[in-house]
Formats: sequence, structure tokens, C-alpha cells
Amino acid sequence: MAWLLIIVSVIVLWVASLCKILYASSSPSKAMFLNNGEVLHKRNVLLVVAHPDDESMFFTPTITYLISRGHNLHILCMSTGNADGMGNIRKEELYQASAILKIPLQQVKILDHPELQDGFGKAWDCNLLARIIEEETLNHSIDVIITFDNYGVSGHCNHRDVNHGIRKLLYDTSQRNIEAWELVSTNIIRKYSGPVDIWLSIISAAIYPDGQMHCLLNEHPNKSHTAMAQHMSQWVWFRKLFVSFSSYTYVNTLRKIKSTSIHA
Ligand SMILES: [Zn+2]
Repeated sequence: MAWLLIIVSVIVLWVASLCKILYASSSPSKAMFLNNGEVLHKRNVLLVVAHPDDESMFFTPTITYLISRGHNLHILCMSTGNADGMGNIRKEELYQASAILKIPLQQVKILDHPELQDGFGKAWDCNLLARIIEEETLNHSIDVIITFDNYGVSGHCNHRDVNHGIRKLLYDTSQRNIEAWELVSTNIIRKYSGPVDIWLSIISAAIYPDGQMHCLLNEHPNKSHTAMAQHMSQWVWFRKLFVSFSSYTYVNTLRKIKSTSIHA
């Protein structure tokens, strides 16, 4: 009987959270991400990820938010994800996912650098990353960078190194006007709580000082599934389960990276 009560409560909470996400799209929010005035100032945003599928699996709420508000989004993927020798296939899959996410294909760049290859235990040099990312920001007049945080959602070393490279870039170019935001990694319970995590995400962003943290709800959670399904070579049962139960399908919490803090 107690189990039945728990299961029913979880279902009710799940549905209520999902309703909140879908309803949120029609209610104007006060402090909006990348929009502090009445006039929408369109920004040139660079999303930096490590592997094809990172964008669909973890960043869909951010991508749908930016695209739906008319920001100019570029993706820089630091590797082809060639750990299993499928780099060329995975590259194509990222272009297909980008089409689903409405990112212009000419704004998607996938690197295949000999020193930045996909894999655990393959450390990526933060100076090299900083140099490459800086070149990209100059080429496209980027003023906002979005990436993983220091834990990188899954703890993958390539995700973490990308964060270190961007911190290095911010530190080296602190006089320039680039702002950078990192996707906050949550603990394992929050990570697998699906839409239910939005409540904690909303509260943590609201109490974080000076608007330095924003909570972006995914107005179209099915987009995460459709985009991830384009990564056919990766679309196996456990990733299907992940996308269904992951809070990153429904919400992204972004925290501003301070240009003075360096991790390397
Ligand atoms: Zn990855």
C-alpha cells in the first residue's frame, strides 16, 4: 500500500512538473537570460561541446531557448567522437541533429585535431583549447560562450577540459567583452529526476546572487528525443532511457563563469 502511494505521488509530481514546463512557455518571466532590457538585443552565442550528441543530450533546453528568441547560435564541437572509430558517422549525425534544432549548418563546426581526440584518459591541453576557441570567437564576433561546468554533467574528462580551456581563455582575454556561462552539473538524484528537478533549479537560480544563474526550461521536451534520435549510432536503449529520465531534457541551469577564476 505504501509503495502504491509513493508511485502515485511520483506520477502526480512528474505530471505537475511537466505542466509547469509547458505552461511556463506562455508566461513572461521577469529576469530573462541574455535579455536585461525591453528591447531584445540579439547576441552571437557560441556553444562549445566535446562530442557530437553532447548538444542534444545535455543542452537542448538552452538551444531551444536561444533559437526561439532569435539569438545567433554557433556550435563548436571539439572532436568527432571517434573513440569507437565512428567519427565520420557521428559528424554527419551532429549536422542532422542541428537541422532538427534549427541551427544553420554553416554555423556548426566539428574539429578533428590530433591532440583533441575523443576518449577517457586523453587529457586536452587547455592552452590549445583556449587558442582555438578564441579564434572562433573572433571569426564570428561571439560575445557569449556557453559550455560545460568543471564536472561536465557526466564527469567525462573531455567535458571538463573544455571548461578549463574556456576559463583559460577568459583569464587571458579578461579585458575583452566576452561573457561565459556553464551548465551546472547536479547530483545523481537530481540528474535522473526528469522534469521534477525544475523546482530545485528554479529556486537555486532565484536565490543565486546578482542574476548570475539562470534556469532555462525546455518548452519542447520532445525536441531532446528527436534531436538525440538523429545520433543513430548512439541511440541505444540506455541513452533512450537517459533522455527520458534526465533532468537535462527538461531544464538547464546556467551559471556565469568569472573571468578571474582559472582552473588549470
Ligand atoms: Zn560528451
